[in-house]
Formats: sequence, structure tokens, C-alpha cells
Amino acid sequence: MTAAANCTTSILANVRLMDGEAADIVMQSDRITGIAAGLADTMPAATRIEGDGLLALPGLVDGHMHLDKTLTGCVWMGHRAGPERISRIEKEKELRDELPPVVERAANLVRCCIAHGTTAIRTHVDVDPDLGLSHVHALAEVREQFAGHVDIQIVAFPQLGVMRCPGTADLLEAGLSEGADLLEGLDPILIDDDLDGQLSALFDIAERKGVGIDIHLHDAGAHGLAEINAVSERAGVAGMAGRVTVSHGFCLGAAADDDFARAVDAMAKAGVSLVTHGGASSPLPAVKALRGRGVRVFAGNDDVRDPWSPFGNGDMLERAMLLAWRSGYRTDDDLAIAFDCASAAGAAVLNIEGHGLAVGSRADLFTVDAETLAEAVAQRAPRDLVFKAGRVVAKGGEFADGA
Ligand SMILES: [Zn+2]
Repeated sequence: MTAAANCTTSILANVRLMDGEAADIVMQSDRITGIAAGLADTMPAATRIEGDGLLALPGLVDGHMHLDKTLTGCVWMGHRAGPERISRIEKEKELRDELPPVVERAANLVRCCIAHGTTAIRTHVDVDPDLGLSHVHALAEVREQFAGHVDIQIVAFPQLGVMRCPGTADLLEAGLSEGADLLEGLDPILIDDDLDGQLSALFDIAERKGVGIDIHLHDAGAHGLAEINAVSERAGVAGMAGRVTVSHGFCLGAAADDDFARAVDAMAKAGVSLVTHGGASSPLPAVKALRGRGVRVFAGNDDVRDPWSPFGNGDMLERAMLLAWRSGYRTDDDLAIAFDCASAAGAAVLNIEGHGLAVGSRADLFTVDAETLAEAVAQRAPRDLVFKAGRVVAKGGEFADGA
């Protein structure tokens, strides 16, 4: 296949595709307009970018981040919180005044994400009566700063709860007018002790504003299952298929078979997806079983070097490896599932049109020094070039501003 060369045409020459075949990838404006071996030789006027025989893969999608919490770029701080979630919340509040501005810290992490091949991020951003919408405003600024380098979706996140913090529901709604794209919930039973109250507040706003919901559910056992079933029921009634996500859903990792099947089937019927970071501190929901029953499962890094966790650098290929490792995956086919969670599945939930390595798709892709997709995941192979909308935004593991 061919593509007419013009001044906006560039060619990523000499890469390999997932099937092992050599190819050149032609990009015009923000789209892939040709993929075939030998294309570069037929388009001498196009800008040639050497792919060095590396593997080309579609852009990574980080489906669950907390960019406003990160300490990336700061002097190293040892973890200060105790083992309980409430301790992490309190320590984080204590730290806030000591830290560089949110915009600066978040931007540091965004550059790391891009350098590792991430082309889209969903970030949860704290909203509470003390902070107001200041972090939403900061992340809206970061999104603007990195427009053209990475897509950023902002979820207004009530870290301290909704019902137990009067005024928070109004703040969440106001956040939708000031930069947030979605609403967030948080453990309605554990945090608010009011399952119906929190979900009524969230779904009322979501339906009136026509936005999606992503809800952190850490609750274990019967509480967690009750929350998932209630979220699925409300999503179904509201006709919000494809626009409601359960984050974590740890209870599914330890549920009895019939409880698991009931909850997962309710999610599938209502079009509720699940995002996981494969964390080791709680039972991991069975990714293949969820997918097999029709639930879209995608992945995100969650906390990256912040008051909640000292780990991580924003690498979604590493997240895919950890998800595979925790799931007991070893075969190439299984490693491909982990990659799908870190790329295409996330793109579908984030409603990113044209994701993928195909003619007509958005030119969001990266090259990696691996023979196969499975090797790239298992070895967290080094990235070289990262393209966003046809532009080089990172090279050799370094963010490339405006290249
Ligand atoms: Zn989270």
C-alpha cells in the first residue's frame, strides 16, 4: 500500500510488527496511512525516521494514575504512613505543605510515562473541602502543558469520602465544569458507611451531566460484592454501559465461585469495566475469568512514588509484567493478554478513537528492543522512539519536548 508524500509525511522505517514481519510505517498528520515493507524507498520526499529493526507496538494506556500525589522528581522520602489506609490519608495531608507544587510533580511523572511509551493516561485527582478544586485546576494545567504529547483524562476523586465530608458532592459536580472529565467514588461502605447515599449522589450527577463514573472499591468480602452489585445495577438502570469503571474490585479476588460469577455477570450485563494495578497487598481478581465472562479489564499504575507507595516510575510495560506475574502467566499468549490490558483495553474504556497499529489508526506508538511482544512484557524491554499523533515525543528513554 502507498501514501502520498507531503511535508507532513514521516516514515518510521525498518521496524518489525507483532507478527515478526519487517515494515515501514507511514504517518501523515496524526494518522498511520501506510504499513508495509519497502514503503520508505518509494517516498524519498518524506521525513525518514530510522527504526533500527526494533519492534513497533501501539501506545500504552495508563488507566489508573494519581498524578497529583506523586513525589517523582523530589528528594527521596521514606514511606511515613502506617499500614492502614486512614494513616496514608493523614500522612499525605501532613506532607502537602512540604512539597513542590502539584503541577511540577505531576509534570515530572508525565514525562516519565511518555518516555516509557504511554500515550494516554486516566488520572484520579483529589477533591475535598480543604483542597477544593485546586488539584483539578493543576492537572488541567498539566494536561494543557502536555497537549500533543499525551492524552490526559481527569477523574474528580473524593479521597476523604463523599457523604462524610459535606459539600464534597457539590465540589465533584463543580469539578466537571473546571477540568474534570469523570466522577469518582470511594468505598461507599468503608469510607461513608452509606452505600445508597454515595451511589445516589454520584449517579445523580453523572446522569445530569452525561459523564462517566470510576469508583475505587477496596472493600473486601460481602461489603465489596454488595458495592459491585449495586454499582452494576445502577449503571444498568442509567444506561451507562461502557462509561462505568470499578477500580481494583479486590473482593473479586477472594470471592467464592458463585459470588464471583454473579458479580462479574452483573458487571458484564451493565457494561461495567474493571481496572487493576495487580497490587500485591490484596487478592487479585482473575483477569482471564473476568474477560471470559465479558468484562473489559484494563490496567493502570495507580500510585507511583507517592505517600501511598514508594514504587514505580510510570512504566506501563512494567505494570503489564507485574499483572502477568501476579496472575501466574507464563505463555506468550498470556503475556499478550497482559499487554492488551495495558494498551488496547484501556484505550477502549478511555474512549480513545483509532487506537492500534493499523492503517487509519492514530499514530500513537512506540518502539522497543525486543524480538516479540511477549519478550517486551516479560523483560520490560527498553523503549526507544515514542510517537504521539505522528510526532516523536520521546527517544532513547527520554522525553523529547516538541521534537
Ligand atoms: Zn487509585
